[in-house]
Amino acid sequence: MINHQCIAYSIGASLYLNITNRCTNNCVFCIRRTNKGVGYDLWLPEEPSLKELLDAAGDPSQYDEVVFCGYGEPLVRLEMVTAAAKELKHKGAKKIRINTNGQANIIHQKNVVPELDDLVDVISISLNAQNANIYAELSNPLKYEPEEAYSAVLEFARECKKYIPRVILSVVKWQGVDEEACREIAKNMGVEFRVREFYGNE
Ligand code: SF4
Repeated sequence: MINHQCIAYSIGASLYLNITNRCTNNCVFCIRRTNKGVGYDLWLPEEPSLKELLDAAGDPSQYDEVVFCGYGEPLVRLEMVTAAAKELKHKGAKKIRINTNGQANIIHQKNVVPELDDLVDVISISLNAQNANIYAELSNPLKYEPEEAYSAVLEFARECKKYIPRVILSVVKWQGVDEEACREIAKNMGVEFRVREFYGNE
């Protein structure tokens, strides 16, 4: 039995769903490397089933948004995300957001974005860098060559633009990240851009 607080927790008016520890990156600024995290122990002893996830989520209509995130990459569990998003919308979720590393299409070896159509309202994609070299340094892709991973992230973002109402490319404030070059990438794609603060490795 998994602690419900590991799976679902709220910050402000957002409900966060933590569905996996797995990720295809090992970013230098990953929350998994911090002791502080978000104030909860989010390391899942095992991945929740759909029922466990929905039970932990409770009534989604009381939040402004429901966010699939995790200590890992939520879209490694694509089927879980789409099944849960359907149920949550049915139960009155106002908005569904996914925070992702943008590698879902190489993870699943197909274009998964059409499956998110009508389910996901906002997707926040970690661009992390202005080129594959910096991406390699900061995101340490574990399964793919940096060039392959970085171009997959860009291609994924372009696909998202076709199906998802709000697409955000994000970077973390970090040495070597050229924020203006990243902003330009987002602008050329016609998507939003956000710079996130690093919370520290204490
Ligand atoms: S992509 Fe996200 S979950 Fe994965 S290592 Fe990087 S920061 Fe952590």
